[in-house]
Amino acid sequence: GFESTEDPSEADVVVINTCSVREHAEDKLYTRLGELRQHALETGHDPVVAIAGCAAQQEGEALLKRSPGVADVIVGTQAIRRLPMLVEQASIDRHPAIALEPCDDVSWPLGVTRRSDPVKAYVTIIEGCNEFCSFCVVPYTRGHERMRGVADIVADVARASESGHPEVQLLGQIVNHYTAPDDSSCDFADLLAHVNDVPGVERIRFASPHPRHTGRRLIEAIRDLPKVCKHLHLPVQSGSSKILRAMRRRHTREEYLDLLQQVRESIPGIALSTDVIVGFPGERAEDFEDTLSLTHAARYHSMFSFKYSPRPNTLAAKRMADDVSGEEKTSRIVALQTLQREIQTRLHEEAVGTVTEVLVDSASRRQVHEISGRTSGNTVVNVPVPADTRGHQDAWIGRTIPVRITRAGPHSLWGEVLLA
Ligand code: SF4
Repeated sequence: GFESTEDPSEADVVVINTCSVREHAEDKLYTRLGELRQHALETGHDPVVAIAGCAAQQEGEALLKRSPGVADVIVGTQAIRRLPMLVEQASIDRHPAIALEPCDDVSWPLGVTRRSDPVKAYVTIIEGCNEFCSFCVVPYTRGHERMRGVADIVADVARASESGHPEVQLLGQIVNHYTAPDDSSCDFADLLAHVNDVPGVERIRFASPHPRHTGRRLIEAIRDLPKVCKHLHLPVQSGSSKILRAMRRRHTREEYLDLLQQVRESIPGIALSTDVIVGFPGERAEDFEDTLSLTHAARYHSMFSFKYSPRPNTLAAKRMADDVSGEEKTSRIVALQTLQREIQTRLHEEAVGTVTEVLVDSASRRQVHEISGRTSGNTVVNVPVPADTRGHQDAWIGRTIPVRITRAGPHSLWGEVLLA
């Protein structure tokens, strides 16, 4: 019975979905709760405030103590389906309703999220993780690994495609660990083939695979299935085998670089991206140099890089001293991001003059006559629309168009649409 509103000050229910993978993300929750309390004091309008997601799961009742009088509902990652009932309960008795219990059932449509996105549909295939990397809070906040049935996933994908979404993104903590609970012979490569067969789907992406589970079958599936985008996100986290061991990533620098070589030999032109943590406990200058040299060798199209922060319950937080100073972490991340920026700028410059397919996903907010989309390799391309279609940018959204790349920047490309 609720309707969404763009104006937070008129909301009767505010749901804050939280992340606790980094300390910074968690801090933002408390800032937001402070703003809500202030707003309620100033206006007398006091909505039901529900906190969902990983920080809710991790902090539980402690959230009520740290921000007294603001939160009415705390709903953990596995109890999210109970949100409507909890909101109702809290609005009747104005007493905090809390649900943090685990739930193994992932058959219900967690499913196609962000329905308002006109182009991409996100379909969860796995919840939770059993890997226990020593820095990572996910196994504690999202629970053990649970797979959704292939039939449910394909049905979600079909619904997404029928509702006009040309791109599907399959989500899970380690997507390539997938084995269908309803068909033990179906692994992640087979799942990609099933999704590839769904009519109307034009592009398939997935996040994230773990390097140690990336084998020949997956590489061949990416190479051979026409709808699977030629982009692979392979989180490396560090270029030092010593640090990788301490992180419990279960692969070495050499094995990772061998894997990249295999991927590139099999799928020429594939775009690679990664995640890196700097300043992990015990990371000496020479270990960080290993991360720089690996970045140099890998030539990633993009990278997400983070400064290490200890997360509750993790092995690293319990057993390893956070012994790299804040200053040193900052100087390392600046050096890494500078190098990565140079690499991706060069890769983008090499694309100038080529023709590539771009799936348009938005009209530019800054340039009124520009649309924007992504290549199969996930690079953003901005394109001025032809003069006769100006003012109708939205009509381009969802179309895949051939574009000649004319200009390169560090974060995106520009091009001109080639129309027959
Ligand atoms: Fe976290 Fe990913 Fe490691 Fe799982 S595999 S513990 S989600 S970093």
